[in-house]
Amino acid sequence: LGGSISRALQQMSNATVIDEKVLGECLNEISRALLQSDVQFKMVRDMQANIRKIVNLEALAAGTNKRRIIQQAVFNELCNMLDPGKPAFIPKKGKPSVVMFVGLQGSGKTTTCTKYAYYHQRKGFKPSLVCADTFRAGAFDQLKQNATKAKIPFYGSYMESDPVKIAVEGLERFRKENSDLIIIDTSGRHKQEAALFEEMRQVAEATKPDLVIFVMDGSIGQAAFDQAQAFKQSAAVGAVIVTKMDGHAKGGGALSAVAATKSPVIFIGTGEHIDEFEVFDVKPFVKRLLGMGDLSGLMDKIQDVMPADQHPELLQKLTEGTFTLRLLYEQFQNLLKMGPIGQVFSMLPGFSSELMPKGHEKEGQAKIKRYMTIMDSMTNAELDSTNPKLMTESRIVRIARGSGRQIRDVMDMLEEYKRLAKMWSKMKGLKMPKNGKMSDL
Ligand code: GDP
Ligand code: MG
Repeated sequence: LGGSISRALQQMSNATVIDEKVLGECLNEISRALLQSDVQFKMVRDMQANIRKIVNLEALAAGTNKRRIIQQAVFNELCNMLDPGKPAFIPKKGKPSVVMFVGLQGSGKTTTCTKYAYYHQRKGFKPSLVCADTFRAGAFDQLKQNATKAKIPFYGSYMESDPVKIAVEGLERFRKENSDLIIIDTSGRHKQEAALFEEMRQVAEATKPDLVIFVMDGSIGQAAFDQAQAFKQSAAVGAVIVTKMDGHAKGGGALSAVAATKSPVIFIGTGEHIDEFEVFDVKPFVKRLLGMGDLSGLMDKIQDVMPADQHPELLQKLTEGTFTLRLLYEQFQNLLKMGPIGQVFSMLPGFSSELMPKGHEKEGQAKIKRYMTIMDSMTNAELDSTNPKLMTESRIVRIARGSGRQIRDVMDMLEEYKRLAKMWSKMKGLKMPKNGKMSDL
């Protein structure tokens, strides 16, 4: 998708006169790309109409940058499509909340329940998990395994076949234990669809969730809208999580899910592991959809600020994809100085948006300095290691003590490192010319 939309906009910026014909061609090209990316037909048509309404070419004053305006209009329109206008319920620490997960079997509910619990646990919540899926054999075992790994209290039964009963019992148990985030996993399949939706309704009625999260497999294609709508009709869906965005999912399903449920996407799943879970952020997502923040674009930007022959080492590291704590430390140093490599680093998707968000540069710098203080207490072996298992509990305790920080701070820093290392590793496949420009590729 990104490719063809960028191409469409590129073609447009090459045209010297932008008239109705060019705009029409451009919109057609973008529409085709959105359809290919699993955006529902009706939504594509609406988007097209809206852009035409917004971009009144004749009314544009002479001399204004028309291309920019069209590009901005497409970007804004896609952002609007992902914004249902009202935010999702946000659980509060210390205040008991119940969150119920719904979605088809295989969509990633059980996995996502644990990710969601773990995410909040790291933020200081006391989450708990209730397995109200009595339909699928092994459902409880799966939840139990996930929960145990993440050290999250869980409740379920091998014997009881009534999901409502289990949900209510779990709720009572965890309310007594002062859990402030009780998460209920439900079944995703029945012999009949009607029975599944009826069960969902009963569980919701008995537990009165503050939030119902619809979990959707990001790779289901054009089926997304109908599936999301079916769930919305039977449950008070208030938020969406799109899973498997690490695979071939093209992202268009997220637009459909928002339209069908009138609820925002709050997280995306980017892998099977418990921390492969990201807060959903509309603008970077749309940028990616439009091919504005992808890695090939990054390479062009690198070329702009840094001729390849000047920093062969970094380029080699980029292409090799090895990313040690020491490399991170060096990048932090560069970033604080905002030298050329720091600039490159700040262009990595997800780096500046989270570590150095616009308008919060001061806090970002303080955080980076804090991370560097922690790294100052690491040994050479730790800084140069490529083995994630090296960071044992005793090492973490030692580093925390040495740097005068909390264990939580060290864990935080290591999580950030892992996140960046993962992004970095995606560059592995990108080839860099030995002594030339990226355009030689
Ligand atoms: P449920 O039937 O809805 O509870 O789905 P599960 O949680 O059992 O997940 C079904 C499969 O999808 C499992 O193999 C998960 O490991 C996998 N899965 C879930 N979320 C993701 C994700 O974000 N990325 C990838 N690659 N796999 C996922
Ligand atoms: Mg499940």
